[in-house]
Amino acid sequence: MLGLMQEHPLMISSLLEFAERHHGDGEIVSRRVEGDIHRYTWADVARRARQVARALDSDGLAFSERVATLAWNGYRHLELYYGVSGSGRVLHTINPRLHPDQIAWIANHAEDSVLAFDLSFLPLVQAVHARCPNVRKWIALCDADKLPQDSGVPNLVSYEAWMGTQPTDYAWPKFDENTASSMCYTSGTTGNPKAALYSHRSSVLHAYAAALPDVMCLSARDSVLPVVPMFHVNAWGIPYSAAMVGCKLVFPGPALDGKSVYELIEAEKVTFAAGVPTVWQMMLGHMKPANLRFSTLKRTVIGGSACPPAMIGAFQDDYGVEVLHAWGMTEMSPLGTLCTLKNKHMEMSPQDRLNIRLKQGRAIFGVDMKIVDGDGQDVTWDGKAYGDLYVKGPWVVREYFKGEGGDPLVKDANGQGWFPTGDVATIDADGYLQITDRSKDVIKSGGEWISSIDIENIAVAHPAIAMAACIGVRHPKWDERPIVVVVKKPGAEVTREELLKFYEGKTAKWQIPDDVVFVDAIPLGATGKILKTRLRETLKDYKLPGL
Ligand code: ADP
Repeated sequence: MLGLMQEHPLMISSLLEFAERHHGDGEIVSRRVEGDIHRYTWADVARRARQVARALDSDGLAFSERVATLAWNGYRHLELYYGVSGSGRVLHTINPRLHPDQIAWIANHAEDSVLAFDLSFLPLVQAVHARCPNVRKWIALCDADKLPQDSGVPNLVSYEAWMGTQPTDYAWPKFDENTASSMCYTSGTTGNPKAALYSHRSSVLHAYAAALPDVMCLSARDSVLPVVPMFHVNAWGIPYSAAMVGCKLVFPGPALDGKSVYELIEAEKVTFAAGVPTVWQMMLGHMKPANLRFSTLKRTVIGGSACPPAMIGAFQDDYGVEVLHAWGMTEMSPLGTLCTLKNKHMEMSPQDRLNIRLKQGRAIFGVDMKIVDGDGQDVTWDGKAYGDLYVKGPWVVREYFKGEGGDPLVKDANGQGWFPTGDVATIDADGYLQITDRSKDVIKSGGEWISSIDIENIAVAHPAIAMAACIGVRHPKWDERPIVVVVKKPGAEVTREELLKFYEGKTAKWQIPDDVVFVDAIPLGATGKILKTRLRETLKDYKLPGL
């Protein structure tokens, strides 16, 4: 017997319709590429997203054709999120920090038909357009009078001229909720980029989940700043969840330095912000010397790479901001786990609570996870035994776009397909996940594993260290031994011996790195993560002391 409830497909457009009707005057504030601040409302987003949909219809773009963006977090990008997906096309957000060769490769692989870009990326577009024969139209996200002349880019129009004259009414179409809505290529920290292809259903379910109290706890009372880019995994789904709850949205545009982000948080009374650790590092670096304080910021989600304990402590103790440590990946839309406490933890000492908060957290309903050993057998959830982390759920990839890389899923005894994340983790009896490492980065020393994340966290807790990366180097007896590559804070001093001494008592003796390498900078990838592949290449001639 089937249930007798109405059937409505889960549509991205319905989020915007809801926001317009119930939170029409809710504010959207954007710092623009031009440097000024732009303000309007959810009702304006809805009206202009309908114009975008109309403009795509006028251009004859077919259902499921790809519209790419090279854009910062801002209101026009938000309109494209809804106008493109809502009308049945696929929004392909491209990471502008990638190399031009990779951008051209990705645009061709995705078969993008239209590409919209912020003016800061004009040089990038000039470098790649000739290699993207499939792109029929290039849209500069600007007013008509700002359209660059003699750019050499064919079929270039200004966004405002393109969509601004369209009628503002439009009936959002209803179609199968499993239709593709947006796509994002993995940043390729490991291997070739492959695309996750999200659907309307997966995005709406993820939006519900992200807003839950033990996830981002978003509400109509919040002023939300996604520092995490809209060009990578849909800014962790915030543009969708924000419409669902009707919060105020604040977009930082291209100004991601500590000073600009701090000033925006204060000016727009931001209560919740989200970003990767490197962004917050810059902001705390700006705030500390000037003795600045937050007046409204209450919570921040930090994820994308391990959040150093020192940062969680600094936010909590020095600024009274609760850090929610999160783990996820492009293939998971991206949220997988988020760290909030349970009722039974409330009586614990602040230190014991902090120890829990350092973990990546509990699974969100909708994400099943397990850790397995080399034979595919489940590993006990005791917080100590580690294994390869597998996940499944309605917003986890089934396969990559165009079947690239074959079938990624691993079947269990019941025939259920699990996605192997490539991460190694422990899970404790309360279900708290802790990422030990990426399987490619974990250091295998004499049959035992050393977590590069643990080694890095200790280094950055030293007052003289700004950034640290731990890699394994070949060793004739132990297979691999860890070394730590560090960047010192400006003006700070620490010697190799002092830093190695700093490890004593903080980790097992055999896990202490064999050497410290001082460098001026550590290579970062397009999403602000340490590029260990590049670091290993740079240090390929490095020899351990005494060998
Ligand atoms: P890519 O895989 O291309 O680098 P993603 O942004 O999808 O891009 O990265 C996902 C990976 O980032 C995870 O598999 C994990 O290794 C790492 N990661 C994400 N969040 C955390 C976190 N809180 N702690 C440790 N590692 C994390």
